[in-house]
Amino acid sequence: MVKTVYVDNAATTAMSDEAIAAMMPYLKDNFGNPSSLHTVGQRAKEALEGARAKIAKLLGADPKEIYFTSGGSEADNQALRSAAYVGLAKGKKHIITTAFEHHAVLHTCKKLEKEGFEVTYLDVHSNGLISAEEVERAIRPDTALVSIMYANNEVGTIEPIREIGAVCRAHGVTFHCDAVQAVGHIPVDVAKDNIDMLSLSAHKFHGPKGVGLLYCRKGVVLKSFIEGGAQERNRRAGTENIAGICAMAAALETAIAHMPENIKKETYLRDKLIAGLAKIPHSKLNGDAKVRLPGNVNMCFEGIEGESLLLLLDAKGICASSGSACTSGSLDPSHVLLALGLPHEVAHGSLRLSLSEYNTEEEIDYIIAEVPKVVEYLRSISPVWEELEKGERQHLI
Ligand SMILES: *Cc1c(COP(=O)(O)O)cnc(C)c1O
Repeated sequence: MVKTVYVDNAATTAMSDEAIAAMMPYLKDNFGNPSSLHTVGQRAKEALEGARAKIAKLLGADPKEIYFTSGGSEADNQALRSAAYVGLAKGKKHIITTAFEHHAVLHTCKKLEKEGFEVTYLDVHSNGLISAEEVERAIRPDTALVSIMYANNEVGTIEPIREIGAVCRAHGVTFHCDAVQAVGHIPVDVAKDNIDMLSLSAHKFHGPKGVGLLYCRKGVVLKSFIEGGAQERNRRAGTENIAGICAMAAALETAIAHMPENIKKETYLRDKLIAGLAKIPHSKLNGDAKVRLPGNVNMCFEGIEGESLLLLLDAKGICASSGSACTSGSLDPSHVLLALGLPHEVAHGSLRLSLSEYNTEEEIDYIIAEVPKVVEYLRSISPVWEELEKGERQHLI
């Protein structure tokens, strides 16, 4: 049997032992509903508030600023809609974001445009970065919200969030940050980073799927979009996912406790992988080489299709991605790579390898040995590559 090498941690991660251990008691004996007044319910309530306090401390927030959700997508949706409608009530109908956000942000923006909001989609530079000055130039008197991600889920670039936050604060504009890829991987502090609203998701840092949160700074109005009970201080109805929330708190605590050594290990493996794959002719690293997540490798190989590459790598036990899990299955190249200015032909041949601290050097050596063979094979049967070789087509990378 082929051994599995899992390098798709930007899509989701395996749960940590700490997260699983934290979750178990609330699935079985302590199964109570925190809204119940009896002992079993109150035990769950205690666990809920304990997890909230722990997470708040780890993020530099106050427990009253944490609203648990079903994950990153829900937090993004709520943050954007809330800030948009709060702005609208003050006559502000303008939103600023970037062209390479996660679809949870981009698709919400598209919906808001249909409702009459005006959205500026800022371009990112070819290295996947944007500057605070560029954000500042886009701010107008009627700007209600700026939403920019901490780190990109496909190319791993880390944006200058603290500076962008400072610019927004200076102009009195609400700043939302999708930090789903950053939290648990690089230092994030909502206060120091000047963030008004922040989304995170447990399953991207070895917690369970289906649980996340929205941080909303005191003084920033948060609207509710799910009608029902009074949970989450009337901002998010529905019985709380106690087991998931406790597991998320444990996963975050573990991730942050081991962050320095995890960053060191992943950066070493990442750079080794990039150096190894860069030896493939007509290949290109996407996103800035240094200002990127410790675990992110994203490369393009000319003359091949990323999807075929993925399937052949899977047959060798290597679980990777061509970009975001959301674009997989569609024939369009990644909107992120297009936003970086890559031509369609090149963007089609992309491969994302996202590492975690669970990966080993042996696995990286295996990938470095196998990817060139698969790329060479795919090029040998590619009509596009043949044209490139014959000089009937110009090499683009
Ligand atoms: C995964 C991801 C999301 C969505 O989070 P879910 O918990 O899966 O809904 C949002 N934004 C980014 C940047 C992500 O990587």
